[in-house]
Amino acid sequence: MKGLIPDYLTDILDEVRDVTDGEVPDYIPALAEADPAWLGVVIHTTTGNTYAAGDDLAEFTIQSVSKPFTYALAMQELGIDAVREVVGMEPSGEAFNEMSLEKEAKRPFNPMINAGAIAVNQLINGTDSDVDDRVEVIRQFFSKLAGRELEIDASAVDGEMEGADRNLSIAHMLRSYDIIVDEAHDAVISYTRQCSLRVTLHDLAVMAATLANGGIQPVTGERLLSEAVCRQTMAVMASCGMYDAAGRWMARVGIPAKSGVSGAVIGMLPGQLGIAALSPRLDGAGNSVRGVKIFENMSTDMGLHLMSTENIAGAHAVRSINRVGEDTIVTIQGMVNFIGAEAILGVLNQHNFRDGRIVLDVSRMVESNTMGRRMLKEGLRRLREEGHEIGVIDPDGGLKQRLMDDGSQIPLVNENEG
Ligand code: GLN
Repeated sequence: MKGLIPDYLTDILDEVRDVTDGEVPDYIPALAEADPAWLGVVIHTTTGNTYAAGDDLAEFTIQSVSKPFTYALAMQELGIDAVREVVGMEPSGEAFNEMSLEKEAKRPFNPMINAGAIAVNQLINGTDSDVDDRVEVIRQFFSKLAGRELEIDASAVDGEMEGADRNLSIAHMLRSYDIIVDEAHDAVISYTRQCSLRVTLHDLAVMAATLANGGIQPVTGERLLSEAVCRQTMAVMASCGMYDAAGRWMARVGIPAKSGVSGAVIGMLPGQLGIAALSPRLDGAGNSVRGVKIFENMSTDMGLHLMSTENIAGAHAVRSINRVGEDTIVTIQGMVNFIGAEAILGVLNQHNFRDGRIVLDVSRMVESNTMGRRMLKEGLRRLREEGHEIGVIDPDGGLKQRLMDDGSQIPLVNENEG
């Protein structure tokens, strides 16, 4: 039954594949080279598992998806309060490159718009750092988050700098209010290099999962950020990550997120997983058209919304696997949502089943959502396809119905049998 989650992700991509709305931006020459057909999604769990579909290996510049991570690094270096002096945390309700500051405090509204991100970039490695050293600190930190060495796309930087009047204006504005000390040109070069790190969806998904995991990189196990910094970062992403579409995003998708002009969108469910999606055509707010749809569909389907009351973590969902006579009984416990079912499927995949029936005992399952039940049923169907006889112990009807995708029913096994 390998491939169940990637198959699901492929279905998610198929649902949006034909959508051609939006435009590939060309104000940065490197972006115009992107293939508008690129479409991909990767999930990375905080337990270190990864699932991908579509163009998961395409490389692109990180652009604004870098903003939350540099914000996190600044807070890690200087403390949350010191960074708050420089940048606020209120949604601006404006485009990402607006030349605006908070009226009273004269600081950028938040670190997710360019004004805030340029100010935050300047904090890294101390305000007296030169550009090369600062950018190298950022590159190294991002590489640790991704778990591999990332590189800066120098030609993307050059191309963007040729038309960087807006960002230069923002930097001049920041300097005139003593928010940054660098020359405007240096500040913009430094920020643009940060935006030009080359990544894949795998990099972004594990970076998102690191925030979701409270700062410990799920694969290397290295602590890169404190839990408090991750919480602050995800909170600001939740309110400001999708520019002036942030309110609609929170209502429809309901997880912290960040988008960028290269067409990437990341999001995460704290404690559970990171997600990254890619599709280069953008809507009027500067967010990937299909990327947003992918998240909307996944959130509804998988029950990701943070305000949803069915969202209880279920990472330890397999209680035991016992051989009883000719049967292997897999006992499930707790909440079976996406992450609960993902854990169960992982255990089933690794288990070396002997002959005889595989019986899933769901009588201890406290709660489940549609996605969790669907994954369990599909997992059982695939085990049967592999030649195993299957069944469930479900005295309370926890699975709601035992109909599988192929139209057949999962056989019910009596509790006292075996
Ligand atoms: N480098 C881009 C810019 O500053 C990033 C913008 C974005 O991804 N929204 O214009």
